[in-house]
Amino acid sequence: MVKKKVMLVIIDGIGSLPVRDGKTEWELTRTPNLDRFMRCGVYGLMYSIRMGVIPGSDTSHLNILGYTPEKYYPGRGPLEALGAGIVLKEGEIAFRANFATVDDMFNVIDRRAGRVSTQEAYLLSKEIEHMVIDGYEFFFKSTIEHRGVLVVRGKLPGRHIEDTDPHETGKPVVWPKPSGDGARLANAITKYTKEVYKRLSRHNINTNRKLPANIVLLRGAGVYKKVEPFEKRYGMRACCIAGGALYKGIARYVGMDVIDVKGATGGYDSDLDAKAHAARELIKTYDFVMLHVKGMDNAGHDGNIRMRVNMIKKIDRMLGKLTDLKDTIMVITGDHSTPPTKMAHSHEPVPIIIYGVEARDYGARKFCEVECGKGELGRICGDQLMQLILSYSGRTEKYGS
Ligand code: ZN
Ligand code: ZN
Repeated sequence: MVKKKVMLVIIDGIGSLPVRDGKTEWELTRTPNLDRFMRCGVYGLMYSIRMGVIPGSDTSHLNILGYTPEKYYPGRGPLEALGAGIVLKEGEIAFRANFATVDDMFNVIDRRAGRVSTQEAYLLSKEIEHMVIDGYEFFFKSTIEHRGVLVVRGKLPGRHIEDTDPHETGKPVVWPKPSGDGARLANAITKYTKEVYKRLSRHNINTNRKLPANIVLLRGAGVYKKVEPFEKRYGMRACCIAGGALYKGIARYVGMDVIDVKGATGGYDSDLDAKAHAARELIKTYDFVMLHVKGMDNAGHDGNIRMRVNMIKKIDRMLGKLTDLKDTIMVITGDHSTPPTKMAHSHEPVPIIIYGVEARDYGARKFCEVECGKGELGRICGDQLMQLILSYSGRTEKYGS
């Protein structure tokens, strides 16, 4: 049997709940290209993690790729660090970090430091990019606007590493508890944070700012560990196209190549034509291309139905450019639902189509959650997807004789 190539399109926050006249945005919007996929593909619904679980984007992507988060989730910090292009070594701790403003009692005044610019944050980061404290080495890198990552190298404690970020304005920085075998690291993080405050407070960029970027708050700590690479596990050379750092980080974590596409922003304005064009080129040399589109999730969090409808039209146009790929199966699904009525992720399953395969006709003609629910795939869980992909792309053998 010919082994087909695989294009996995992940539409972040794809699923919804009724927003008008009992219908979801997918039911209310014309999607000629996706409808064509439905007429010659298999479809169903997918619980990206498990029935009843509200998925995070990080855990659900890992599960969909067959890396069950219970075993493989390293925490958000390492994924963000990998996404920022940092090469992590085994046993290093990574945090998500952000510039913020505190008063002289370390109470948080603004969690984004008055929306410090990427350029200003970069210049500030130079002042704190490397420090050695009590045997721990700290590496800081700024990314976009107030965001950044902190990597810590040194002896690991046997317990969870807390956030210093209080996650609310008006509250003080949370100093990590110096207890048990985590005491030395806790003290080092406290000293680091105070030294950052000292250095940033006197920085000339901050002297004129009403809200000085005078501290770095830490959250999402995790310890990096290598995992079995995607190619070794599935026999497919894989790459990823995504705008957001998290998704690039997830791809790097499982050993995919990450291809930067100009205009792929991870926002509403992302250039989906450019992404489709890049995906068409990449599928010539890779066996597996993961194409991630973020905008619908953003619109869901904003409760913006109109923007979700616009994104659906844009995504359908993008998919229209990918209908004729030779010897390739297309898998179109999402990582979770983000209904604009909830302005948050929800546990409802997401639609899924596998196109470019021999399929029975279950009669659905319109791409949407409800019609997908009538298909052959029924309701699968995210960790079953790779097995299906292997079978539909001709990579499995008979089980038994
Ligand atoms: Zn997501
Ligand atoms: Zn989200």
